[in-house]
Amino acid sequence: MSDLIYMDNAATTRVAPEVLNAMLPYFCEQYGNPSSAYAFSGKIAENVAEARRTIAGFIGAKEREIYFTAGGSESDNWAIKGVADALREKGNHIITTAIEHHAVLHTCEFLEKHGFEVTYLPVDSRGFVDPKALEGAIKPSTVLISVMTANNEIGTIEPIAQIGKTAHEHGILFHTDAVQAFGHIPIDVDKMNIDMLSASAHKLNGPKGVGLLYVRTGTRISNLIHGGAQEYGRRAGTVNAAGIIGFAEAVRLAASEMDKVSAYEASLRDRLIRKVTEEIPYTIVNGDLKERLSNNASFCFRFIEGESLLLLLDKSGICASSGSACTSGSLDPSHVLLAIGLPHETAHGSLRLTLSKENTEEEVDRVAETLRQIVERLRSMSPLYADFCSASSVGDKGKGAI
Ligand SMILES: *Cc1c(COP(=O)(O)O)cnc(C)c1O
Repeated sequence: MSDLIYMDNAATTRVAPEVLNAMLPYFCEQYGNPSSAYAFSGKIAENVAEARRTIAGFIGAKEREIYFTAGGSESDNWAIKGVADALREKGNHIITTAIEHHAVLHTCEFLEKHGFEVTYLPVDSRGFVDPKALEGAIKPSTVLISVMTANNEIGTIEPIAQIGKTAHEHGILFHTDAVQAFGHIPIDVDKMNIDMLSASAHKLNGPKGVGLLYVRTGTRISNLIHGGAQEYGRRAGTVNAAGIIGFAEAVRLAASEMDKVSAYEASLRDRLIRKVTEEIPYTIVNGDLKERLSNNASFCFRFIEGESLLLLLDKSGICASSGSACTSGSLDPSHVLLAIGLPHETAHGSLRLTLSKENTEEEVDRVAETLRQIVERLRSMSPLYADFCSASSVGDKGKGAI
């Protein structure tokens, strides 16, 4: 365990000890159903209400506008299908981007099979959506714009406030998948012109299986799960008191140390990016260097396969991701890396390292050095690399070349 280096915090994070402690009483002691009428449960319902207030306050929302769900994917599904259904009479056009999480993209593809029209906006080479292009895509039939706050693969932070403003100028609802951003960068739903926002506890040291959808008062959206009166009658199912209270504790922690943690993570991230690009030739850094999540380092190494790289990193006790969510053996490169314009061969050599406050400079240095050795070894076995070297003048480092 001590030798393990975990750099896949965009996939999930460790539950903070404070979060676990806050949750524990709700399993064997305060186990009542928060919806029951007796005092034993009433106390739990009060604690859930307090958790809802804490989380609402964190993003400038009202308690009544926070709906707990089972995670980010569920919240994305609800926001998009819920608005599409509620506004069916008004229009059938949705605008999103080519770099969304599959929870958004596959939901949109599902709606396309049911008579909806979806525009997938392209992004530039750093992963930015162009608010002007977005405005140009609006039609009289547009009912929803969904653009993620920050990308989970390359870390680019989108101009959300401006996109929300454009949406509102045209009377269109704006949803943002903030799963990677929530708890990591400041978010204010009013200032950022957000009508709906998805978040998930396990991406900020909270438990897995609990998330939220913020829904601005007055937003027309169909209910998600029909049944009991939980979540203001919109999302039925016995309230996950432990999960929600753990989520609120994670939010409290994130709020109290966000500046400190992001400054620390950014220093590690920049050290990692510097070492890797200095020491490994033919390396590309994906995403924008400034408008970027503080914990995200995303690379492409030419002439190698990301999958082989991951396997060898794993053998060295390093947990990382290829950036493509395709752990299923799919050979398609990441849709995000293709959308920023990388050729297929380059996108195949991707690596995403996502840090946390628990990582250290020593770990960063060890990862950079291990990577250097692995990339060198993989390239020495690559016929592509051999061809490239004999074709070009050997010794030319060509840093940053695509
Ligand atoms: C992780 C993630 C999700 C899915 O959240 P779950 O809680 O795991 O369902 C959705 N969107 C983004 C951007 C993510 O990073």
